[in-house]
Amino acid sequence: MVNSNSNSSFKEKLDFRSYKSSKDIEVPERIIDQIIGQEEAVETVIKAAKQRRNVLLIGEPGIGKSMLAKGMAELLPPEELQDILVYPNIEDNNNPLIGAMPIGEGKKVVMNYKVKAKGQEEKKNMSMMIIIGAILVVGFVLQQYLAAIIAAGIVLLIVMQMKPKNTFMVPKLLVNNENNKTAPFVDATGAHAGALLGDVRHDPYQSGGLGTPAHERVEAGMIHRANKGVLYIDEIGTMQMKTQQELLTAMQEKKYSITGQSETSSGAMVRSQAVPCDFVLVASGNLQVLKGMHIALRSRIRGYGYEVFMKDSMPDTPENRDKLVQFVAQEVEKDGRIPHFNREAIAEIIREAKRRSGKKNALTLKLRDLGGLVRAAGDIANGEGVDSVTLAHVINAKKLARTLEQQIADRYIVQRKEYSVSKSDGSKVGMVNGLAIIGDRSGILLPIAAEAAPAQSKEEGKIIATGKLGEIALEAVQNVSALIKKNTGTNISNYDIHIQFLQSYEGVEGDSASVSIATAVISALENVPIDQSLALTGSLSVRGDVLPVGGVTGKIEAAADSGIKTVLIPKSNMDDVMIEERYKNKIKIIPVETLSDVLEHALIGNGKEGIVTKMKKISGIVPKEILSKP
Ligand code: ADP
Repeated sequence: MVNSNSNSSFKEKLDFRSYKSSKDIEVPERIIDQIIGQEEAVETVIKAAKQRRNVLLIGEPGIGKSMLAKGMAELLPPEELQDILVYPNIEDNNNPLIGAMPIGEGKKVVMNYKVKAKGQEEKKNMSMMIIIGAILVVGFVLQQYLAAIIAAGIVLLIVMQMKPKNTFMVPKLLVNNENNKTAPFVDATGAHAGALLGDVRHDPYQSGGLGTPAHERVEAGMIHRANKGVLYIDEIGTMQMKTQQELLTAMQEKKYSITGQSETSSGAMVRSQAVPCDFVLVASGNLQVLKGMHIALRSRIRGYGYEVFMKDSMPDTPENRDKLVQFVAQEVEKDGRIPHFNREAIAEIIREAKRRSGKKNALTLKLRDLGGLVRAAGDIANGEGVDSVTLAHVINAKKLARTLEQQIADRYIVQRKEYSVSKSDGSKVGMVNGLAIIGDRSGILLPIAAEAAPAQSKEEGKIIATGKLGEIALEAVQNVSALIKKNTGTNISNYDIHIQFLQSYEGVEGDSASVSIATAVISALENVPIDQSLALTGSLSVRGDVLPVGGVTGKIEAAADSGIKTVLIPKSNMDDVMIEERYKNKIKIIPVETLSDVLEHALIGNGKEGIVTKMKKISGIVPKEILSKP
């Protein structure tokens, strides 16, 4: 169902309070009105469309960057569209000529030329017949039969040689906008130079004069097809510097000659007259991709356009929840094959958006992924042959439509159980169940082992950390050394400390492991065991405060899946916990504020009390001199 009444404001027409199904929600017609949660970006794009400015969109994948670019193309005036023709150049075959005309004209011109060429051909054939006839008649009259036949043959050969030259006259339609109602949107993401800037095909027969005429071998590039519209390039920084440089030239000149991109081909000899390419560039990528972006190109956008940093979440308000209702309706309409969602099913999608945001009072805007969940739930409903998606379908889809990272995390949990790398019962010295995140938001158990031995070298002990997370371990140990010295009297520098991440995998981020590392090291130094039915996460300050980390929901769920009974998380993360119902009775969540809180819960057995009491005394109030002299 599409809202065709574009005069009335779309917002007024929605009645989110009384809807029973996503079927009751009208989907706006314009792409720009379908974009959810990116109000600033939308406003900027509308402004940029009016002024024909370039736009740089920075943000995570799947939050609507290409949608914005498409939406912008819809806003550009289609009246300005042109057809582009390439004509042969009689004077210089290798420099074909270019002509631009209003849309629909291009095809007509080519047709006219074809008719003319055909007429000419017929005329030529006619005159050839007359000449040959005349030669034969004269020859027969003079009784010079042989000479007449030879002469006629020669004329025939000459004329046949001239034949290709006739088709020369018909121009080629390079860019055809005949059927376009809106300004073009051209996605040039990942395009190589030839596709982007245009190319001239190689012709092996060219040297013999029998080949395809040069102008017919000219191919338009994406920059030319985007003329008067939008050229969209995602991951702009991965494009070759030279190509970015050429793109910049094209943007400045608003026209760009087409030449063969392969230097060894006969196409490289051909260079067309400049072809119009007056496009608006919408470039996008994440912050890292910016690094690979040509400086001049970036400053061109900055000087003649806008830069927008897009959001990956929005506040959890009733209005924003309504927007997600609209989103579900949109995705269903767009897919065209899945049934609409009932109220409870939509509520579950909204809950999932909250969970996925990983922040308190926020809803995720990574809507490509959320759209995947909508489709998965729709497919399940379809499989059952029902005409409405219900809560059960969405819950089922969440289990089935797990991301690659989630599936990998699941696999690790199974493997860990099989090989018992981590333990989820008993106690052990120097061994702790840390928690980490893999991919976007999948939790994973990260067992850490620490070992302390008297230093080999007289001067100073070493910290030896193996695995990819070594640097983090180093920093964590340095951070806690002051605390340890103060509270236990143990000087870390008298020891060689080994830290090992048991099974750390590609993609595991460890910045939230510092609390776990510190706990393992203290346990090893003091020879006090750690409860193995417990897992923990948190970042540690030099003062012994436990600081908030990301992805707590995923981490807690992974711990529960691995058979862990208790999990310690930073107190300031408590509001971010949005674990699924089924985990709620499986695991106890304890908020912690300081390293002494952590040790209190994590250590067991003899020696624990002493450490904790001492630690409590100093936690959070470490004198400056200790910090500066670890
Ligand atoms: P990006 O270019 O940022 O990677 P896309 O614009 O290609 O993301 O989004 C992919 C799909 O995800 C869209 O076609 C749409 O279905 C959905 N989507 C993403 N962001 C939004 C948004 N802000 N509003 C509505 N739908 C969105």
